[in-house]
Amino acid sequence: MAQVEKRPSGAPAPLDWEYAPAPEARDIVRIRDRYGLFVGGEEVDPRSGEWFPSISPSSEEQLFEVAQAGKEDVELAVHAARGAFDDGWSGISPAERAKYLFRIARILQERARELAVAESLDGGKPIRESRDVDLPLAAAHFFYYAGWADKLEYAFPQRTPKPLGVAAQIIPWNFPLLMLAWKIAPALACGNTVVLKPAETTPLTAMLFADVCRQAGLPPGVVNIVTGDGSTGGYLVKSEGIDKLAFTGSTEVGKLIQRELAGREVKLTLELGGKAANIVFDDAALDQAVEGIVNGIYFNQGHVCCAGSRLLVQESIYEPLLDKLKRRLSTLRVGDPLDKNTDVGAINSKAQLDRITELVASGEEEGAEIYQPECRLPERGYWFRPTLFTNVAQSYRIAQEEIFGPVLSVLTFRTPEEAVEKANNTAFGLSAGIWTEKGSRILWMVERMRAGVVWANTFNRFDPTSPFGGYKESGFGREGGRHGLEPYLTFE
Ligand code: NAD
Repeated sequence: MAQVEKRPSGAPAPLDWEYAPAPEARDIVRIRDRYGLFVGGEEVDPRSGEWFPSISPSSEEQLFEVAQAGKEDVELAVHAARGAFDDGWSGISPAERAKYLFRIARILQERARELAVAESLDGGKPIRESRDVDLPLAAAHFFYYAGWADKLEYAFPQRTPKPLGVAAQIIPWNFPLLMLAWKIAPALACGNTVVLKPAETTPLTAMLFADVCRQAGLPPGVVNIVTGDGSTGGYLVKSEGIDKLAFTGSTEVGKLIQRELAGREVKLTLELGGKAANIVFDDAALDQAVEGIVNGIYFNQGHVCCAGSRLLVQESIYEPLLDKLKRRLSTLRVGDPLDKNTDVGAINSKAQLDRITELVASGEEEGAEIYQPECRLPERGYWFRPTLFTNVAQSYRIAQEEIFGPVLSVLTFRTPEEAVEKANNTAFGLSAGIWTEKGSRILWMVERMRAGVVWANTFNRFDPTSPFGGYKESGFGREGGRHGLEPYLTFE
C-alpha cells in the first residue's frame, strides 16, 4: 500500500505516469540468520557473547544478527593480522600478491548481482546504483591496485617502499562494499594485512566479502573483519598492535580518533564529511546541469560525503534553472530499493532519518522556503522526499552543516569571485562542481577552490585511478590512484 503525500509548493504538475514494477530477485542472496566475526580465515562467535540485529531500512524487518565484537575479539583479530603479516604475506612475491587481488576482483564481478541485492537490502540504496556504481567500482579498485602490487618501486622511484604491517580500517554505511574496496585493495597491494570494521547498519556485504576472500584462497589472517558499533571501532583505534589507521566517517569521530592517536606511531588518514558547492554559471548547458545537480544531491539519497548539497546559481539564470529543476524532481521515483525503476531509495536508518528531519525543520524555522514534489512513500521503512530549499542565507544550518540526506540548499551569486567566496565559506573542503562552457573559467575557479576534488560539467564521477580526499574538516590523506598507495607504505 502506498500513500500519496501532497506538498504545497507552487510546483509544476508532476509528470505522473505509472511504471510497472521491475523487482530484482531477492532470493539470489542467501542471508543466514547469524554472522560471526571473520578472524584468521574463519568465522568465529564473538568472545563478548553479544549479537545485534541488522534491519532492512526499506521494510524495517530484521534481516539477520551480527556479532558485536568486544575488546578481546578485536585483539584476536589484530593478532591474527600480525601473524599473517609475519608468516609471509609481506614476504611473498608482489606478483603473487597481485594474483590474489585479481582473483578477488573477478569474484566480485562474478557475484555482482548477489552482492548488489545484498547491498540494497541491507543499506536501502536503489538496486540501479548498487548494480551500476558500487559493484563495478569495487571490482575496479581491486583490478587497479592488483596492477600496482608488483610496480611499487616504479610508483616511488629512488625510494624503497615497504609495507607498514597491520592496517586497521573503519568505514561508514553509505557505500559499504565500495568503501571496503577503497580500503582493503591498496592495503593488500602494498603487502599489509587488515582488520576492517564495517558500519553497524551495513555489515552484510562485508560478511559476504569474507566468503569472497575464502573463495579466492587468500591466506588466513590477511583480511579480518570485526563487526560492531562505535565501541568496537574504539577498541581497534586503541589497540597497540596496529601500524596504520584509515578512517572514513564523520568529522566528529575523526577528531576523536586523531586525538586518540596523538603521540603514537600509527600512520593516519581521515576521510570525513563534506558540504560541496555545485556552481552553475549562466553559460552552462542547463539541461545537463540539472542532471548533474540531481545526481549530485539525490544519488544514494544524498548519503554521499561529496554530495553537491549547496547549489550556487548565477542570478541571471536562477528562475529558468529552478523551474527545470523542480520539474525534474517531480519525475524522481522514491521507493523499493530492489525495484529497478527506483531513483531514490530508503534512508539508511531511523537515526539518520531523525537527523535529516531535524535539519530540514531548522531550515524552515530559519526562514528558508521548502519545495518537495508530490511523492508516493511506502508505509513501512525510512523515507524522505527529495527536498530543495530556496531563500537560503549562508548562515543557516542547512547551508553550513552536512545533512547527509536528499536535501539541497540553493543560493545565488553574481560574479565568479562571489561564487568562490561562497563555495569556500564552509568548514569542509571535500569536493565541488562547476558548470560552464568556458574552459578558462573552470581553470580560474579550480585554482581558488579549497576542495579535494573539483568536477567540471559533471558530478560524482569516481575512478580508481583518481585520488580522492579532503581539505580542512574533510580530513587528510588521499585514497585512489598512485596517491592511495603512499598511506600504506613506509620508505627506507
Ligand atoms: P560515523 O563517524 O558515525 O561512523 C563511521 C564509522 O566509525 C562506523 O563504522 C562507526 O561504527 C565507527 N565509529 C563510531 N564511533 C567511533 C569511535 N568513537 N571510534 C572508532 N570508530 C567509531 O559516520 P557515519 O554516520 O557512519 O558516516 C557518515 C559520515 O561519513 C559522513 O560525515 C560522511 O561525510 C562521511 N563519509 C566520508 C567519506 C569520505 O571519503 N570523505 C566517504 C563516505 C562517508
